[in-house]
Amino acid sequence: MKVNSPLQVYKYLPQTNCAECGEATCMAFASHLIDRSKKVEDCPPILKEGFKKKYMELVTLLAPEIREITIGTGEHAKRIGGDDILYRHQLTFFDPTALAYDVWDTMPENELVERVNKIQNFRKFYVGKFLKVDIVAIRCVSGDALKFAAAVRKVSDITKLPLVLCSLDPAVLKAGLEVVKDKNPLIYAANENNWSEVSELALNYKVPVVLFSPDLDKLKSLALSFGEMGIKDIVLDPGTYPQGKQLKETFERFIKIRRSGIKEGQKDIAYPIMAVPLNAWLVYKDTVTASYWETVLASIFTVRYGDIMILHSLEPYAMLPEVHIRDTIYTDPRTPVKVAPGVNEVGTPTKDSPVIVTTNFALTYYTVESDLSSNKINCYLAAVDTDGIGVEAAVAGGQLTAAKIKDTFQKANFEFKDKTSHSTIILPGLAARLQGDVEDVTGLRVMIGPPDSGRIPGWMEKNWPPKPK
Ligand code: SF4
Repeated sequence: MKVNSPLQVYKYLPQTNCAECGEATCMAFASHLIDRSKKVEDCPPILKEGFKKKYMELVTLLAPEIREITIGTGEHAKRIGGDDILYRHQLTFFDPTALAYDVWDTMPENELVERVNKIQNFRKFYVGKFLKVDIVAIRCVSGDALKFAAAVRKVSDITKLPLVLCSLDPAVLKAGLEVVKDKNPLIYAANENNWSEVSELALNYKVPVVLFSPDLDKLKSLALSFGEMGIKDIVLDPGTYPQGKQLKETFERFIKIRRSGIKEGQKDIAYPIMAVPLNAWLVYKDTVTASYWETVLASIFTVRYGDIMILHSLEPYAMLPEVHIRDTIYTDPRTPVKVAPGVNEVGTPTKDSPVIVTTNFALTYYTVESDLSSNKINCYLAAVDTDGIGVEAAVAGGQLTAAKIKDTFQKANFEFKDKTSHSTIILPGLAARLQGDVEDVTGLRVMIGPPDSGRIPGWMEKNWPPKPK
């Protein structure tokens, strides 16, 4: 049985409302356990003698259907799996797909260093945050354990990102593990031929392990054997075939595994799944076509249950869609994306610069901000707290009001008479109907800007500075 409501969780808590967890009541804490913004251990009383049984029960009842495993250590450690649902609208997906990019042990050292740096330095600013990639996968191409170990050492010297050690040869994996045994790498992979030796490595080095077989019965049987040995940090690779009928079968296998884990409660196979879009390079030989198909595969398996994937192309036209699709799929559909309310400077505003109002819906805010900064318009940009709702809907729903606009400037200690020479604010065109109210409540002159921020430069040319009254 799994608990999925705060009321069910509440029964297991001490029910004293002592607030040691930072919440006013046990019921409030219970809802944070359900949305996973807190852990059971954040309630100190439940860890004390007398509650141990309830603590253990609650941890089990809250455990996600798909086992959550961690790769790496420290601040860059990456958690994968951890899902309870098949479709995002049922709750949300947790633990975004980990994107691992490969290096290999036959690379010249300078190229290896350059590639690792490219992977760890990749970032794309999007809606207030940087989209990044997560893991370096080191492939053994040489077949030489010493050479592989040297590559692992070099990579681990220059990055704190988690690692995947890739070889089907247990001796090669062991050589790599000796170098990074304290860094909790993922080892890839155990199959029907090497499983006995690889299971020993997973047990001895206490690291997570990938099991590989495109035959789902064999994959399940491997998972069962590893489970019986006490190895629970398992990732399943059911094979990623890049084209034709086999691609269709790959897609079906991913769905079958996840359905078995979540819908049918088959714990033996309820593990994170690995996709290997890199396999596109086995079929397509030129860089653009291979990158294109690799990105297509990455998109398919971000949408359908790939918890971690190994990729090759570092071309921006491949990486950008990969990180954007992941961000879209893993954005919590229950929470609008928003920025902190307040009054921000764009460029270097002076007393003659305009003061522009928008909402704190992140997509709106960053679109306006980008239109202003890319057109070198120095100004103040006020983000009004509308609970992350866009302008038109917030005006209609009462989240964007004259009082809220006044409040935003007051809380930011923004005094128009000190900061500006004009005591004027510019409302978005879609909030034109608030003009009279805002004038009454703030005492400021109110101008109505264009309905979308892309037209602000043209609007400025015609309307700014405002004519004297
Ligand atoms: S610390 Fe525990 S007992 Fe105290 S209010 Fe929070 S959940 Fe309840």
